[in-house]
Amino acid sequence: MSEEAQLTALCERLGASAGQAQTMARQLMKRADQLADTRGITRVEAMAHLLELVTKGVRGETPAGFEGVDVRAAAPKPVDPSEREQTVLALPMQEKLRALFRDTFGREPEVIARAPGRIEFIGNHTDYNGGTVLGAAVDRGIWVAAAARTDNQRRLFSRIGGEIVTHSGELVPVTGSHNWVNYPLGVLHALTHFGLRVPEGFDYVAESDLPTGAGLSSSAAIELASALAFIRLTGQEVPRETLVKIGRYAENHFVGVPCGILDQGVSGFGQKDHLVFIDCRGPSFSTVPMPSGTHFWIFNTHTKHALVDGLYAARHRECMEAAKALGVELLADGTLAQLEAAKEALSDVAFRRARHVIEEIGRVDATREALRRSDLQAVGAALTASHRSSQHLFENSTPELDFLVDRLVETPDVLGARLTGGGFGGAVMAFTTEQFSSAAADTVAGKYRDAFGSAPDVLHMQTGPGADVVVG
Ligand code: ADP
Ligand code: MG
Repeated sequence: MSEEAQLTALCERLGASAGQAQTMARQLMKRADQLADTRGITRVEAMAHLLELVTKGVRGETPAGFEGVDVRAAAPKPVDPSEREQTVLALPMQEKLRALFRDTFGREPEVIARAPGRIEFIGNHTDYNGGTVLGAAVDRGIWVAAAARTDNQRRLFSRIGGEIVTHSGELVPVTGSHNWVNYPLGVLHALTHFGLRVPEGFDYVAESDLPTGAGLSSSAAIELASALAFIRLTGQEVPRETLVKIGRYAENHFVGVPCGILDQGVSGFGQKDHLVFIDCRGPSFSTVPMPSGTHFWIFNTHTKHALVDGLYAARHRECMEAAKALGVELLADGTLAQLEAAKEALSDVAFRRARHVIEEIGRVDATREALRRSDLQAVGAALTASHRSSQHLFENSTPELDFLVDRLVETPDVLGARLTGGGFGGAVMAFTTEQFSSAAADTVAGKYRDAFGSAPDVLHMQTGPGADVVVG
């Protein structure tokens, strides 16, 4: 949607008629240009300021400095706090974050950073086995705003927790309903581990347009956005590799999730219209162009196996045991020939887990080759083969995910489909041509609802840039 259309919709929600709303939107855009010119602030800051004045004006307060726009005439309705909240939610992410920061702490942020979520394209459970993986950073993510405090207090807010969490002293993980703060606190812990300075006290707000637990790695996004904000707040620079390792260290050692490098690596090294290729052993990171005219669709089932953490850990253990039985350090060092030769010595389960990982690493290589040739059919076939391997060999799929993959691969314009992320519930990704439509996605979602009682969320995702500082 264009800026004018977004602003028009916003003004209509504030009570202006369609005609008034459009005039008001144009005035706002003109005024933002003028303000940015005359006050030496960015245009985004000017617009954020104006939008705040608009909402204040609606509440009956004097919209000082808002001479160019007749706020009252355009928006006669009083606004209650919940409407104010909705107005804020309708803003573009950076303005929304600034408004939340101001509302929460009564001051302006000094730095703003953002980091994207990611799609696991192919390379399932290969990362901790020393293998390779391809992922894509998406155009949604987590934004963090921060400003230093001089009283050594850490004050953190996210709408996920709903209230300010105040923390000081030793960095120890928090339990209970505010445990989301373990992500930013874990980043502080990791910064110290990597020999970097940490801000002693700060105000912090996180805001997201990424669903959590949908296999899109909101956890890596909040880690990287927090790390960038803290690093910039203390006037430091770090290489991207270090940033990625800081995120992973926080998740492994403070939050307590034994994830590999995939999530943080893709969030850190993502690029629009590219996939990120990671050789997890180094680790080393590079990008591969996405063939033009291809799209990602995510079907989030909101299902989660009750024992998901235990199952993830069990797969980790089974892989390490299989590697040991093959006489290699990690499964990425094993070959299919070695595996066949050791078949008698391995349990059926260990054999199937190892076969999944070794063949999956082969599929990642085959996918890279196919991408180079722009052979979309071969890419799609590798994705679906990856899912079948999860279904039958690694056993980290579920009936819900299998159902979605089955319906998707029989739908025209779908190149391939697979579970994305750790599995045991979560989401399925479809890789499609541009002919695949929302109507087709709705048909698949409808069939799923008929079978399982509730429809999955459907998200049409674009690739997007990797984590970065936005302001500061
Ligand atoms: P995923 O990474 O697949 O989205 P995880 O369980 O690994 O799922 O991470 C989700 C957790 O990350 C949430 O439970 C919460 O603690 C934290 N998180 C995600 N988004 C936000 C947010 N906007 N604000 C605060 N914490 C968040
Ligand atoms: Mg996660």
